Amino acid sequence: MAEQHYDLIVIGGGSGGLSVAEQAARHGTRCALIEAGRLGGTCVNVGCVPKKIMWYAAHLAHALDDAAGYGFRLDYFGFNWRKLQVARDAFVHNINEWYLGYLANAGVELIRGFGRFVDAHTLDVTGEVYTADHIVIATGGHPQVPELSGAEFGITSDGFFELKSCPPRAAIVGSGYIAVELAGMLHALGSEVTLLVRKDQVLRPFDALLREQLMERLHEDGITVLTRTQVRAVARLANSALSLDCEGQASVLHVDTLIWAIGRAPNTNALNLAAAGVATQPNGSIPTDPLQNTNVPGVYAIGDVTERFHLTPVAIATGRRLADRLFGGHPERRLSYENIPTVVFSHPPIGTVGLTEEEARSQFGSTVKIYQTQFRPMYHAFTTRQPQTAMKLVCVGPEEKIVGCHLIGEGADEMLQGFAVAIRMGATKRDFDDTVAIHPTGAEELVTMR
Ligand SMILES: Cc1cc2nc3c(=O)[nH]c(=O)nc-3n(C[C@H](O)[C@H](O)[C@H](O)COP(=O)(O)OP(=O)(O)OC[C@H]3O[C@@H](n4cnc5c(N)ncnc54)[C@H](O)[C@@H]3O)c2cc1C
Repeated sequence: MAEQHYDLIVIGGGSGGLSVAEQAARHGTRCALIEAGRLGGTCVNVGCVPKKIMWYAAHLAHALDDAAGYGFRLDYFGFNWRKLQVARDAFVHNINEWYLGYLANAGVELIRGFGRFVDAHTLDVTGEVYTADHIVIATGGHPQVPELSGAEFGITSDGFFELKSCPPRAAIVGSGYIAVELAGMLHALGSEVTLLVRKDQVLRPFDALLREQLMERLHEDGITVLTRTQVRAVARLANSALSLDCEGQASVLHVDTLIWAIGRAPNTNALNLAAAGVATQPNGSIPTDPLQNTNVPGVYAIGDVTERFHLTPVAIATGRRLADRLFGGHPERRLSYENIPTVVFSHPPIGTVGLTEEEARSQFGSTVKIYQTQFRPMYHAFTTRQPQTAMKLVCVGPEEKIVGCHLIGEGADEMLQGFAVAIRMGATKRDFDDTVAIHPTGAEELVTMR
């Protein structure tokens, strides 16, 4: 039997786990990765990748509507959900296969199965025992389902990717980015969508401009948003539809598909963390210091299983830096969690980086200055849909250092990355003003705001 001791074992072959394993192997370590499911984890299989494909489809549906204003006369024969689903799943399957080569090329050994701790340096995978000097927990998370009668009749974002057709009527429960993204995609592809939100607004941690603008866009698009509304129970009717017993703006709602998008929980329950002495928060996530150390020496945690930003590039960046720190001779290497840019693939999309206006005011008080603009993008000059674009720059101090940039509108998703670089480098409003605009674009407004 081959020696089963490694320098590093990674539990979980998602965005974070694959990155730390590959980078560690490049530094010459003997490294193994344990994966219980499909390689690529959430992002590749039931997250960013299939989601973006559905978003493109929804974007095309809007473009088809818009085309008439530009003089096109289109004979439209509808949308074939099943055809897209088959193509999407094949695309994802190719990525799963590609990762096999990625690990083999890097020299990482793949162990198939579910990993559990025996002690801080020992793991059990379906009866086989493996030991390592260092163990990284990168087991991600899973969507939550509430504890109420009939909750099992609903699906989650995982189930969304298994839908064989577009549901005629869909209810989505939640107010986070996954809820609004699913609502926008289903609506554009033909569903009558109701979004049930527990409080007054969607995207609560985001800047107020983005929250308010997105609420307006959802209403304009024809998505029903029921605020201060909660589901109390769910029942299946004889015609296979679902009846939602609600409290708030509606009392009963009949739909074909119910999607819970109420948050995600870390995958720590079945890891037997107690055997290794690894501490968890009450919600199951693993607390780490800024270097990704858990409370147990030699055991680390990265990605969605921790309490920080749950984004693929964050999981990848922390993984690579952890490998550089442990095996690459860079003992202080770590990710700075400041100014992490992110996009919400709503319709139109949102791009945001840095502090919200509220956060900046509580940190910097009266030295905060806000620049804000709102306009109809030229693309919509002839279209029936008229979504506005809105932008906000949050600046602080006499030099007007930009500490926040918040965008909603056509192209915001692609606009933000370059501005995020500038903001990370400490750009001021003056730097933006001194940058020559690119005309005619939406992005030029960011360097011409007064
Ligand atoms: C619908 C949706 C849309 C999203 N969209 C975006 C987006 O647009 N942009 C973005 O940046 N992020 C997005 N995310 C978030 C992103 O997918 C996650 O932040 C990212 O995948 C986290 O990576 P991870 O490595 O921490 O965990 P995961 O990718 O979840 O990987 C964990 C892996 O560990 C495996 N595993 C778990 N326990 C064990 C065990 N005991 N033994 C062996 N294997 C185990 C799992 O099977 C899984 O493969 C989205 C998420 C969802 C759900």
